[in-house]
Amino acid sequence: MKTLLMEEMTSREIKQAIADGYTTVIVAAGSIEQHGPHLPIGTDYMLGTTGALEIAEGLGHTLVAPTIRPGCSDHHMPFSGTITISTELLKELCRAYCRSLAKHGFTRIVLLATHGGNIEPMAEVAPEIAAELGCTVVSPLILGTPETMGCMRPLIEAHGLTEDESGIHAGFIETCEMLASPFAHLVEMEHAERGFTGNPFEAIEKVKVDGHWKMTDISPNGILGDPRKASVEAGRELSRIATPVYVKIVAQALGDA
Ligand SMILES: [Zn+2]
Repeated sequence: MKTLLMEEMTSREIKQAIADGYTTVIVAAGSIEQHGPHLPIGTDYMLGTTGALEIAEGLGHTLVAPTIRPGCSDHHMPFSGTITISTELLKELCRAYCRSLAKHGFTRIVLLATHGGNIEPMAEVAPEIAAELGCTVVSPLILGTPETMGCMRPLIEAHGLTEDESGIHAGFIETCEMLASPFAHLVEMEHAERGFTGNPFEAIEKVKVDGHWKMTDISPNGILGDPRKASVEAGRELSRIATPVYVKIVAQALGDA
């Protein structure tokens, strides 16, 4: 196989791969939203694609569907460039992807949220689609779980950072991941600056109105965490320690482990 990314394959190659047992497919959904002054607005879909590829390699016999680029990003709209879609539209995109993929012979579909705002809608729609199509559709949580955060902790501590400084948005972790990705040339470390470094989840709860919150009320520069110590080396180490954990979480959701 020259690639596991469906968008880089021909229809003929995809048909052959499915016949050869590549019947599992990952559909990542990222976002087009501000990621501080130093990361591109496509960060979540870029890392979604690279992350899905690493997980697919770990699972085996798995292809990666074209990543859904925009996500549910209302809370980032005060920042230029953010494009947001409704939770219902994200669900409808998931339905359309799954119906198409199932028609071609994929029997197991992993809906992967690589942006926080997509987690709930994808988790909600997965069982509905599974019932409709009669195939396996799961949406395992890989972002910010005790397991994924736990495996990163030694690296975070080795850099003298707290978990909140490592950040959940454009902080140390995400900036490291981008620096170790094929999109590293888009990172502008000279513009990396400290963002909000308190507990982001408590802060979000405080500024929620009717279930909605705005990033600007917590972090004027759009960063949750501190990206300044991010490096390519730390990004490679992160990938080495976190990818097997992601693979395990997805395999468990599929009933393989
Ligand atoms: Zn992000």
